[in-house]
Amino acid sequence: MRIALKECAWERWDDALVVVCDPSRQIELSDPDGHAEALLTALAAGPQALPELRQRLAEAGVEVDLAELGDAVAALDSVRLLEDADDPAPVPAAPEGRYFSNLAFFELFASLETSRLEFQRRLGTAHVLQLGTGGLGSNVLQSLAGLGVGRLTLLDHDLVEPRNFARQFLYRQADVGRSKVRRAVDWVREFDPRVDVAAVERRVGEPADVADLLGGVDLVVSGIDQPDNVDTLVNDACVSAGVPWVRGGMVGSELVYFSVDPGRTPCYACWRKQVDEEASVPEAGAVAMRLASGRSRVNRAIGPAAALVGSLVAFEALRYLTGYEPPYAAGANVYVDVAGGCQQRREPWPQDPGCALCGRARERLAAGAAVS
Ligand SMILES: [Zn+2]
Repeated sequence: MRIALKECAWERWDDALVVVCDPSRQIELSDPDGHAEALLTALAAGPQALPELRQRLAEAGVEVDLAELGDAVAALDSVRLLEDADDPAPVPAAPEGRYFSNLAFFELFASLETSRLEFQRRLGTAHVLQLGTGGLGSNVLQSLAGLGVGRLTLLDHDLVEPRNFARQFLYRQADVGRSKVRRAVDWVREFDPRVDVAAVERRVGEPADVADLLGGVDLVVSGIDQPDNVDTLVNDACVSAGVPWVRGGMVGSELVYFSVDPGRTPCYACWRKQVDEEASVPEAGAVAMRLASGRSRVNRAIGPAAALVGSLVAFEALRYLTGYEPPYAAGANVYVDVAGGCQQRREPWPQDPGCALCGRARERLAAGAAVS
């Protein structure tokens, strides 16, 4: 492997080096003997293997053995200053520059273990099942397509209506009365014909309506609101199949999203259990919860709201699909208060020790780990 130094700048500050790679963060490296600066200078000459790097350092008057050099390189890698210059596998074929910004983003998170190309490749080989192409779905879909997700299956049963135009920008006036999911598929094909995209015109009424679509699926994104127990149905199907799922929506003046990583985090059924327990406590909060759940659901999602929660859900999808950072909303509701400057609040929910779905999901993970 040849080691590459990412584009960065540094300057000495007393006994330390101040290094900036990601312009929003500063790294301070303790460097009383000047060896760290010598190493950065040597690395800046271009991608090179460890023995070559050691030779270059020796020429600069810094003698280190390969083990010491390996430790120093690992230290620079741990603060994300390095990446592998010899990633051999190509990203999916694409017009020149198609992934320029994606790769520039992934550079921030790349390391000797995972190159920026590898992050893009993970997206290219991913299959996402998206439930709903309405307010949440039509916004998530555009981000997933832009990210370069290779395969998309879209499910919906609605027709385009005038009221959708507050927030669903995939659709055109000429589409009113037509199938949403078919128009969404056409949009993806027009946007990027290399995406493998399929439409499923279906209403979700039981877990099997989702379960039979999960073969080979890496992640489910859900934005459907009907029937009232739809999240329970989707949770049943996804947790049983071991497929993570992300849900986003709007409740009153708050956006909310969460994700479930089967066997690793508490599932939606665990959350329902907690809600039911809280609702049974004799106090004002429980009364308010009961009153709130009895109110009819009015869709108040204006364009900025749908776009914002769609982006947050797309980020969570990106975390699952690439691992650039761990999922943020796994087993937690993340609320965004649109009546409070769009501030975020994260509320994890507890594992229900009696949850049969989670129990089976953990057994499946353990069995998978034992096999591999
Ligand atoms: Zn559970």
